[in-house]
Amino acid sequence: MKKHNFSAGPCILPKEVLLKASEAVMDFNSSGLSLIEISHRSKDFVAVMDRARDLTLELLDLKDKGYQALFLQGGASTSFLITAYNLLEKKAGYLNTGTWSTKAIKEAKLFGEVVEVGSSKDENFNYIPKGYTVPKGLDYLHLTSNNTIFGTQLKKFPKTDAPLVCDMSSDIFSRQLDFSQFDLIYAGAQKNMGPAGTTLVVVKEDILGKVSRAIPSMLDYKVHISKDSMFNTPPVFAVYTSMLTLEWLQNLGGIEAIEEINDKKARLIYSEIDLNPVFEGYAKKEDRSNMNATFNLADPKLKDVFDQMLVEAGINGLNGHRSVGGYRASMYNALSLESVGVLVDVMSELERKG
Ligand SMILES: *Cc1c(COP(=O)(O)O)cnc(C)c1O
Repeated sequence: MKKHNFSAGPCILPKEVLLKASEAVMDFNSSGLSLIEISHRSKDFVAVMDRARDLTLELLDLKDKGYQALFLQGGASTSFLITAYNLLEKKAGYLNTGTWSTKAIKEAKLFGEVVEVGSSKDENFNYIPKGYTVPKGLDYLHLTSNNTIFGTQLKKFPKTDAPLVCDMSSDIFSRQLDFSQFDLIYAGAQKNMGPAGTTLVVVKEDILGKVSRAIPSMLDYKVHISKDSMFNTPPVFAVYTSMLTLEWLQNLGGIEAIEEINDKKARLIYSEIDLNPVFEGYAKKEDRSNMNATFNLADPKLKDVFDQMLVEAGINGLNGHRSVGGYRASMYNALSLESVGVLVDVMSELERKG
C-alpha cells in the first residue's frame, strides 16, 4: 500500500532522490565504487560538495552577494552554540518562539548576555510575538523562522541594525523570502533537504572575525570557509543526497514553484481543520505554519477510531510532539498535494462517523 509520510523529521524525500542516492551507494558515477567508500578528496566528490554549495546560493538568490554555503556536522543543535561562539561578544537578542529557540538561548548564555526580545511561552508557543522592540547594540538578533513542534511560522521579519541570524531548519527552501535580509542562516538537513548528518550554514562573510575569544577550528566558520567546507571528512552521503534534493527542486522551478504547491497543501488542510467540527487547530490562525499543521480532536474519545483510520489509509507520522499532544501534519517540500488530500478525506470521514 502507498504510504503517506507526514513525519516531522527525518522527513519524506523525493522518490527519485532516494533512487539516485541508493544507486550511488552501490556504484557512484559508474566508477565501480560506492559513494561512501571513496576519498572525499577525489575529483568526483569535490564536485558534489561544490555543486551542493553552489546550488544552495543559487536557489536562495545569494550568489555574488558575499555569502558562503557550508555543509557541516552536529545538527542545528550544534549551530545553536557555534553561532554564539562566533558572533556573541557581549549581548545578543533572541525571539523565543518555541522549544528550539529555548534551546538556542540556553547555549548562547554560555557565551554572553542574552536578551529575550519577545516570547510566546505564556500560551505554550501557539503564536508569534509581535510589537516587541529590539534593543540597540546587539551583536545579533536570533530568530526561528518555523516552529516545527508548535506549528507557527514567522511571516514577517523584524528590521534591525544588528546582524540577523535565523534557524530555518524546518522551512528552508519552502517559500520565497528576501534571503539577503539574513546574515546567517542554519538548518539541519533532515527536515526539508536530505538525511540527518549534515547542517547547512549560509553566512555572510563580513560578519565573521569580530569576537575576541579564540575559536576551536571545528567550531570556527572562517576555518570551514577557508577549506571550502572540507576542513575534515564531510558527511558524504548526507551532502550528496542533499545535492540531489536541491537539483530536484531546481528542476521543478525552484522555490517559487514549490511555494505554490506548499500553499495549496496548507490551504487544503487548514480549511478542513476550520470547517470540520471534529478538529481544533492549535496555532493562532495568522501565525500558522505552512510546513507543520498542528491540531487536536475536539472530542478525545475519537482518538482510537481516528488512529485506526490513519493506519488503514497508509498515513504515517501524524502524532503531535509530546509537548503539544494531538496531531501534527508535516508537509515538507517532497510531500505531495495528493497525500494531503488523502489525510483530509480521512478527516472528513471521521466527521461522518463521529
Ligand atoms: C529539528 C530542529 C532543530 C534540531 O535539529 P538537529 O539537527 O536535530 O540538531 C533545530 N531547530 C529547528 C527549528 C528544528 O526543527
